[in-house]
Amino acid sequence: MNEKYLYLKTIGSVKVPILERLCGPLNSILACKVISDNEYPVFAFEPKRNQYYARKIIEKLVCTLPSDCEKLIGITDVDLCTPVLTFVYGEAQLGGRVALVSLNRLKQEFYHLPTDDKLLTERLLKVCTHELGHCYGLFHCSDPGCVMYLSNNIMSIDNKKSYFCVKCDEFFGSRNRKEKRGQA
Ligand SMILES: [Zn+2]
Ligand SMILES: [Zn+2]
Repeated sequence: MNEKYLYLKTIGSVKVPILERLCGPLNSILACKVISDNEYPVFAFEPKRNQYYARKIIEKLVCTLPSDCEKLIGITDVDLCTPVLTFVYGEAQLGGRVALVSLNRLKQEFYHLPTDDKLLTERLLKVCTHELGHCYGLFHCSDPGCVMYLSNNIMSIDNKKSYFCVKCDEFFGSRNRKEKRGQA
């Protein structure tokens, strides 16, 4: 059986080591590979909002999936939005293969506070795991401590754990096994 990987892909000026720090914890879900795309997603820029449409970047990522890729998370430092939301930390294809996460509002600098790489890694891990959960078909969870809780501010991200609650973990486990069985 061919092994399938979780790809973490830098977009624009995001540095590879930031993503490499996620590989340890995310390996418990899927073996990780880090790849780079130095190009800025200018095609997704919305000048009226000075932000980037998440969906447009996801659509492009879908077209460039490596053959041994099970799931792919693009990580960018541009500020992301959707047509109906003023901003998003990340976005995913529900039950699909691709997700996108922004570092922009996860950085302490965004809140005029000193850089904190450890905190940034923790926040990034939570948002990546959350979006990956959506890729495996998980919805939002009502438990504020669960990584699948819907966070719309940074305190809520800091308050939750980087992993699934028991209920979400059961659902994730059953979905994950089903997907693995489905593989050739
Ligand atoms: Zn969500
Ligand atoms: Zn949960």
